[in-house]
Amino acid sequence: MSEPLLQVEDLKTRFYTEEGVVRAVDGISFTVEEGEIVGLVGESGAGKSVAVSSILRLVEEPGEIVGGEVRFEGELLVGFEEGPDGELRQRDEMLSNAQMRKQIRGREIAIIFQDPMESLNPVFTVGGQLREFIELNRNMGEKAAEEEAIHMLREVGIPEPEERYDNYPHEFSGGMRQRVLIAMALACEPSLIIADEPTTALDVTVEGQILELVDDLQTEYETSFVWVTHDMGVVAEICDRVNVMYLGEIIEQAEVDDLFHDTKHPYTSALLDSIPRPDETVENLDPIEGVMPEAIDPPRGCRFHTRCPDAREICTRVHPDLREVVDGDRPHRAACVKHDVFDVDYDASEPLAEKGRREFGSDIRTDGRGVGTRTASDRTADSQEVSDDE
Ligand code: SF4
Repeated sequence: MSEPLLQVEDLKTRFYTEEGVVRAVDGISFTVEEGEIVGLVGESGAGKSVAVSSILRLVEEPGEIVGGEVRFEGELLVGFEEGPDGELRQRDEMLSNAQMRKQIRGREIAIIFQDPMESLNPVFTVGGQLREFIELNRNMGEKAAEEEAIHMLREVGIPEPEERYDNYPHEFSGGMRQRVLIAMALACEPSLIIADEPTTALDVTVEGQILELVDDLQTEYETSFVWVTHDMGVVAEICDRVNVMYLGEIIEQAEVDDLFHDTKHPYTSALLDSIPRPDETVENLDPIEGVMPEAIDPPRGCRFHTRCPDAREICTRVHPDLREVVDGDRPHRAACVKHDVFDVDYDASEPLAEKGRREFGSDIRTDGRGVGTRTASDRTADSQEVSDDE
C-alpha cells in the first residue's frame, strides 16, 4: 500500500502562558490519502485550528510544537528526536523554514481561512491579487497569469469574471469572497488544501453552494482536503473520513458513515444529538452538558468525564488512548473505556455522581505509558512549567 499523502503522528503543540502550559494539541495522529476529504471536528477550544497551524509550522509564540512527526509526500515537515542529553531536538531531515515557505505553503499545501478579508488586501482588485499570486507561484508572465486568473474565477462560479476581475474585495459578497479564496487555493494545483472553518461565517444557503462547489472541484482536480469545522452537518455533507477532537486529543476516528451510524464515543454522540439531522426526526435537540474545561489543566483520566453521561469512577482514573474498537475491514477507533478492548471492567465501576465528576484520580494511561513514564517532550514541557512557576 502506498504512503499516505499526509501523515501526522503523535503531534504535540503547547502554549506557554503566564497562567500555565496549554496542551492545545496533545498527541494526535491521523492520515490523509490522495483525493480524500478528511474532517477535523469539535467544539471551539478542541485544538483543531492549532493542529492545522502546526502541520504548516505556522504556530506563533507563545506556542511551540514540542513533539511528533508530520510527513507530506514523504518530506518531513515536522520531526523531533531525543538528543544525547535527553532534550528534544529537530531532526536533520526536517525541511527548513525557507523550504516550507518556497516549496510547501501555498504551492503544495494551500490554506483557506474562515475570514476571506484576512487573506485579501482591501486596496487591490480581486483579479490583480489573484493574477499576482499566479505569477509568483507558477512562474507565468503577466498576460498568461491574467488569463489563468479569469479562468479560475470562472471555475469557482464567479459570474462575468472578465468584468468582476477589476472589482475590489468589498464589492464582493461574503460567499463570493470565499469563492475567490478557493480559486486562489486551487490556482497552484496543490496536492492538499487545508480549509479552516471556511463556511462558518456564511448563511446556510451560501454555505451549501460552497460545499457543492468544493465537492465538484475536488472531483475535477483530485485535490485532498483537511476540513476543519465544528459543524457535524458540514462533515456529513463533504467528508470521507472524520477525526473528532476534544481538549487537544482525537477521541474518535472513522469513515463518515460509520461515525454517524455506529458512533463509538459519547462525545461524538453528544455532538450528533446537538444538531438537526436530515436522516432522523427528533423531538428536541440536546445541547452538550457543561463547557469544555481549560486545556491548561485538563481533567485527569478521560478528559470528557466531567461532561459524559456514561462516566463511571474508572473514567476518572484511566486516560484512554485511541484504539480500534470494531472488528471489520474499515478502521474505527475510539478513546473510551466502555469498549471491551480496554479491559478495565467498566461495567463493574460505580456510575459517577454529578458531584464526583470533578474529583480527579491518578491518571492511568492505556497507551503503555504508565504513570510516571514521561517522554522527552513531556519533560521539556514540565521543565518549562517549572520555570514558568518560578
Ligand atoms: S471513558 Fe468514560 S467518561 Fe470517557 S467517554 Fe468513555 S464512558 Fe465517558
